[in-house]
Amino acid sequence: MLLGEPGGTELGALACGQVWVCPVCAYAVRGERAREAGLLTAAHLRAGGQAWAVVCDPGEVEQAGLAARWQLLSAAWRRVVSGSGWAAEARRSGRVGVVWSPEVTWSGQDGWRVVLRVLLLDHPLREELHQETVARWTSQWAAGAGASGARVSWRPVTDTVAAGGHVAAVCDAGAGRRLGEGALGPADLLARARRTGEEPWWELWREYTRAATPAARGHRSPVTFSRGLRSALLPGLVHRADADLAVEQARATVPALTGRAWRRLAADGALQLQVLDAALRGPAHLSWTLADHGLAAGEPARLAAA
Ligand SMILES: [Zn+2]
Repeated sequence: MLLGEPGGTELGALACGQVWVCPVCAYAVRGERAREAGLLTAAHLRAGGQAWAVVCDPGEVEQAGLAARWQLLSAAWRRVVSGSGWAAEARRSGRVGVVWSPEVTWSGQDGWRVVLRVLLLDHPLREELHQETVARWTSQWAAGAGASGARVSWRPVTDTVAAGGHVAAVCDAGAGRRLGEGALGPADLLARARRTGEEPWWELWREYTRAATPAARGHRSPVTFSRGLRSALLPGLVHRADADLAVEQARATVPALTGRAWRRLAADGALQLQVLDAALRGPAHLSWTLADHGLAAGEPARLAAA
C-alpha cells in the first residue's frame, strides 16, 4: 500500500482516483477545478458581474478532533446556503452561483483548522445589497458554527487566476515540500510521516483519512460548484467526475533515474514494491513516489496556495 490509507488501492489496480487522500489525485483534481473556476470567473466578469473570494472561518471551536470540526463547518455552511434567505438573496444580488472548498491544515501551535473557501459570483445593483449579503452570511455562519470568533472575510476578485487559486488552495504535488513553515496541508503530513516514520505524524495522517470520509466531511468533492453554474457560464465545458479527472489528468513525464537511484532500487525490495504500485496507479503517481524517495532529479510540479 503506497499511502497507508484505509480503503486504498491494492497492488495490481490500474488507477487510483482517491481525490481526498492521494496527494497526486488531489493535486490533479484541484488543479483542474481551479482552472474551471478561473474560466467561470473570467466569463462572469466579462458579462459585467462581480466576484468575491470569501473565507468562512469557524473560529475557536470546542471540538478538538478534525472530524467534529469538519462536520461543524459543513453544518454552518448549510445554514448559509439554504432556506428562504438564500433564495431571496439570489434575486436581490443577481447571484449566478458559488464554488466552495474546505481547506484542512494542521500546525503545532493551533492543531487542526478547517476553513471554507468560497468564490461567489453575483451582480448586486447597489453597495447596500452587497452589505445585506455580507450581513446574512455572517449571522448564519456564526449561528451554525456556534463558536466564538466565527467570521467571514470578503475580498473582491478581478484576477481570474487568483479566483481559481482561492478555491484550490493548500494543494501540493511536491511530496509535501511546501515552502515556508507554519500550517501543514494533508499532503505535507503524509510526506512527513513517510520521511520520518514517526508515529505522531502517522497518527495525524490517519486522523485526516478518517475525517475525509463522506459521512464526516459532508462534501462530496474537494471543490464543489453550485448547480447549473458551469453550464450557465461555460456551456461548452464537458463535466467530468473527480475520480475520472484525477486518472485522466494524472499524466506526467516520468523522470529519468540516475545510476545511483537504480542501484538503490535494485537493492531494496520494499522500495521496488512501492515504485511498482505507484507505476500501476499512473505516471504522475510514479513521478511523485520517485521524487518522494529522492530517486529522481528535480522537483515535481506544485500548485501554490493562494
Ligand atoms: Zn492517486
